[in-house]
Amino acid sequence: MTGTGAASVVYLDHAATSPVRPEVREAMAPFAADRFGNASGSHRIARDARLAVEEAREQVADVLGADPAEVVFTSGGTEADNLAVYGTLADRARSGETAGAVCSAIEHSAVLEPMRAAARGAAAVLGIGAVTFHEVGVSGDGVIDLELLARVLGPHTALVSVMTANNEVGTIQPLEAVADLVRRHAPVAALHTDAVQAAPYVDLATVTGHCDLVSVSAHKVGGPKGVGALVVRAPNQIVAMLRGGGQERERRSGTHDVAGIVGMATALRLVDESRGREVTRVAALRDRLADALCCAIPNTIESAPRSDVLPGHCHLRFPGVEQEELLVLLDRDGVCASAGSACASGAIEPSHVLLAMGVSPAAAGSAIRFSLGYTTTEADVDQAVDVVVSAVARLRP
Ligand code: PLP
Repeated sequence: MTGTGAASVVYLDHAATSPVRPEVREAMAPFAADRFGNASGSHRIARDARLAVEEAREQVADVLGADPAEVVFTSGGTEADNLAVYGTLADRARSGETAGAVCSAIEHSAVLEPMRAAARGAAAVLGIGAVTFHEVGVSGDGVIDLELLARVLGPHTALVSVMTANNEVGTIQPLEAVADLVRRHAPVAALHTDAVQAAPYVDLATVTGHCDLVSVSAHKVGGPKGVGALVVRAPNQIVAMLRGGGQERERRSGTHDVAGIVGMATALRLVDESRGREVTRVAALRDRLADALCCAIPNTIESAPRSDVLPGHCHLRFPGVEQEELLVLLDRDGVCASAGSACASGAIEPSHVLLAMGVSPAAAGSAIRFSLGYTTTEADVDQAVDVVVSAVARLRP
C-alpha cells in the first residue's frame, strides 16, 4: 500500500510512474542542498557536481552495458526518443537524399510522433530531408510481425525503432530477431529501442547488445521524473536537437540536473541488483491478480499471453464495462489503475496499441491496465481484487 497524505491507496499504476525509492531520495538530497554546483564550471563546487555526474554516468553505463561516453543524459524518455529519431534522421537523411524510417505500430507516441512529423516534412527545420515512413503491424498478441518488418527494410532504411516492451499491454518484443533482420536487410540503418517500460524487468545490457540507440527514463524505475538517458553506441552519430553550451559531448546542451542524474543512476543500480528476485516476486503477484479477476468476473479477457508480457503488467478487458466509469469507481474505493492510454488532457482515446492488435474501438473501451511494481504486496492484490470485482458487478447490466 502506498500512503498519499491521509489516505492509503492500492497503487497499481507503476507503468505510469513508480514512487521514488527511499535510497534514491537519500542519494539526491545533498544536491538539493550544499552540493548545488553547475557541473560545467571549473571551481571546486562545480567540480564536485561534475564528479557526481560522471560517477552517475559510469553507473548508468554499467547497467546498460555501454561505455560512459555513449550515455547522453536527457530530460526523460520522451526527449531520449525524440533525440534518437530526429538526431539520427538529421545525421542520415540530409536534404537531397530520401531515407527510410520504420517503427512498430505500437510504439509510444514519443517515437511515433517524431517519425510521423519527419515523414510529413515537418522536421525540415532540423535539417531532416525527405523521409519515407512505415509503421509495421503486430499480431493479435501485440508482437511485431517480423515478415512485415523484413518487407519494408532496405538499403535506404536509416532508422528502425522497436520498443523493448510495450507500455500498455506489456508485450516484450523479439529484439534479437529484429536486430538480425535489420543487420541483414538494412545494413546502414541504426536500430533504436525504447526500453523505458522494460527497464525494471529486462536485462538492459542484453538489450543494448542488440541495438545502436537505447532510451530509458528514471521515473519508471523508482527514480525522479524529468530525467532519462539515450545510449548512442559508437560509431553511431546523432545531431543535437538542443544546442547551447555543448554539454554531453555536444549531443545535448543544457545545465545538468545533477540531483536527477544521481537519482536515476541510484534507481537503475537498485533495479539491476534486485531484478532476478523482483521478476519472480512481481510475476507471482500479477498471476494472483489476473487469476482471481478472471475467475471471479465472467468473460474477462487477458489482452496478451502472460508468457509474452512484462511481469508487472496485467491488462484486462471486461466486456460490457466502460473503462472510464470503472476507473472512477476504483479510484473512489482506493485502487489506482489506468486505461493505459490517455492524452495530456486526461481523456481516454481508443488505444492505438489495441487497435493495432485488431481489437475493435468498442472492445478497447473496456480495457484496464493494472501495473504492479516494487511496492506491490499480496495485501494490495487481495484488496484490489475485492474492489474490482464489486465495481464490475455494479457496472454490468
Ligand atoms: N516510452 C515509453 C514506452 C513510456 O512508457 C513512456 C512513459 O510513459 C515514455 C516513453 C516517456 O517517458 P517520460 O515520461 O520520461 O517522458
